[in-house]
Amino acid sequence: MNQIQHSPSLAADDPEDAPVPHVTHDPDTGLPWPDPTVPEPEFVSLARFLFEAAADATDGCLVEPDGICRHGHPSWLLRLGVI
Ligand SMILES: [Zn+2]
Repeated sequence: MNQIQHSPSLAADDPEDAPVPHVTHDPDTGLPWPDPTVPEPEFVSLARFLFEAAADATDGCLVEPDGICRHGHPSWLLRLGVI
């Protein structure tokens, strides 16, 4: 028997799992956001941010899903244009 294990989560080689273009400027002020200092979270983490109403900012701070931390880093949801 040579069974292939299928993960229920998103596969790393999923062709639809293409890189998401980043939003690099605050759409309200037009000012550029600082570059992320932490790795981009998995898609499942983004969904969890929305569900828990608390998100990681792009420097690892905890902010509201549509918030910006005191260092000027937006939440990943803003950065990735999710909300
Ligand atoms: Zn911060």
